[in-house]
Amino acid sequence: MPGGVSLAPYGMPYYSLNGHPVTEPGAVATGLIRCGRVPHLVATAPGSVRAGARLACYTFLLWYYIILVSEQHHLELTDVFVRTYRELGRREAEPQIHATFYPFSTLRHNIRRRGDRLVARVSDILQAAPEEILECVAHILFGKLFRLRIKAEYRNIYWAYALDEEVDRRIIDVQRLRSRKIYGDGNGSMYDLQGAFDRLNRQYFDGQISVAHIGWTQHQAKSRLGFFDEIRNRIVISRLLDHAQVPPAVFEYVLYHEMLHTVHKAQIRHGRRCVHYDEFRRDEMKFLHYSEAKQFLAGWGAPAKGARRI
Ligand SMILES: [Zn+2]
Repeated sequence: MPGGVSLAPYGMPYYSLNGHPVTEPGAVATGLIRCGRVPHLVATAPGSVRAGARLACYTFLLWYYIILVSEQHHLELTDVFVRTYRELGRREAEPQIHATFYPFSTLRHNIRRRGDRLVARVSDILQAAPEEILECVAHILFGKLFRLRIKAEYRNIYWAYALDEEVDRRIIDVQRLRSRKIYGDGNGSMYDLQGAFDRLNRQYFDGQISVAHIGWTQHQAKSRLGFFDEIRNRIVISRLLDHAQVPPAVFEYVLYHEMLHTVHKAQIRHGRRCVHYDEFRRDEMKFLHYSEAKQFLAGWGAPAKGARRI
């Protein structure tokens, strides 16, 4: 349909036929099509339908989500998990298994025991994934839960799919919609991120590193001091480091570490996603103040208890 765009309320897939996700908040659904396992909602641009129709459409969307997506997809997913569980051939009585798609802000999945039930939540980014991939996820999660050695093939198949460009794009769009983190620019009150980046780039990388964006977190993120977002090719450093208590060597070490991630990209080894592999660690030690920085971070209690992850 001309001007048709698809809509993504409540974590539903939202790719339109022309590939553009909806960003206008007022976009209105006018119908739906099914494309394989994925329902696509078709909508028109905001302002082209009257308010009454708009309300009706949203009610319809909600209904559609509850009835079709949650019921049917979740039932299918539970089936996959039950089947996989039976393949494991465990001796204990089969627990009640319940698996649902969940709107995590990134590609993650988990499983836990709730009384005598097993409850699995799989990222809804995989809602459109082939059954084979969902089976791999089930194997990986059961493997973790029961501490089983699972065939490397399950991890390989899963990661080959998860790192695919199409899935990457879906993750980016989902993060854009759901991410609560808003990143600021490179100007800190203590340190100049861009200036330090340029300096380190010249000193250690022959000026070869280029990222799309570099910035501080808006808040003093404690769980992670910095990270390299490979999908969007950007480096984000916790504002916690923009502080007089933090020596320049420590701030620069964290930045250097993230810059190194742009050189040593994540790899799949033995079916696992590896980031800090040997080559990475070897190059990391080339940072001039490596030991000094590591020592500071190890002994840095307040204000960032537990903030060691980079
Ligand atoms: Zn790292």
